[in-house]
Amino acid sequence: MRRFSTLRLILIFAAGIVLAFGIALSARIALSAGIVPDMAFPDISFYSAPAQEAAYEPEKWNLILVNRDHRIPDNYYVDLIRLENGGTEVDMRILPDLQNMFDDMRQQGLDPVVGEGYRTNREQKKMLWHKIFELLQQGYSCHEAAAMAKEWVAEPGTSEHELGLAVDINSISGEQEYDIYRWLADNAHRYGFILRYPEGKEEITGIAYEPWHYRYVGKAAAEEIYDTELTLEEYLAP
Ligand SMILES: [Zn+2]
Repeated sequence: MRRFSTLRLILIFAAGIVLAFGIALSARIALSAGIVPDMAFPDISFYSAPAQEAAYEPEKWNLILVNRDHRIPDNYYVDLIRLENGGTEVDMRILPDLQNMFDDMRQQGLDPVVGEGYRTNREQKKMLWHKIFELLQQGYSCHEAAAMAKEWVAEPGTSEHELGLAVDINSISGEQEYDIYRWLADNAHRYGFILRYPEGKEEITGIAYEPWHYRYVGKAAAEEIYDTELTLEEYLAP
């Protein structure tokens, strides 16, 4: 009897190893193929949108604050417009200023492109999973990977890209990245955009420095934020 239960324990243990190996192997295959399984991403403890909804006043739509502590309101509606180059969409209210900014940059010999504009909640989830898988592959534990990924990728429901009010601006050729970031840092406020995640303010924004990520807040707020060097969190603090 005793021998039987020992045998059973060994079998259970072996089955556990086979199962774990199978999971690891399939994850590795998916990773090596560059695929994150396109399925309903499980809402397990890797991420959880904050309970508190961002305050939204239609007449102050440009000042909605979405971050790690404030998620996008459940019934938030975005009227999108696709950019001319066909790549991505943005909230149509920001297009005139965005267009002016791009026209002026091009006139000065730069080659900017909106790499990322609007993103769905599902796309945001997928991005976070990509980052977590990438870190797991580098040897970090699940816990470490999840924590580190969130410094780079906002949790689904808390990304400004899901509002359609943020754009990631890069260089088409890839050769003018530095010049473009420099130009944006000096001029974007004139068009109503702010550098949303400045260097040295990571504690406040919860996001690493992103010289390419610009958020539309309107010209008045952008000028003030530029002059005072505040983050949107600080600017809107009561
Ligand atoms: Zn961004």
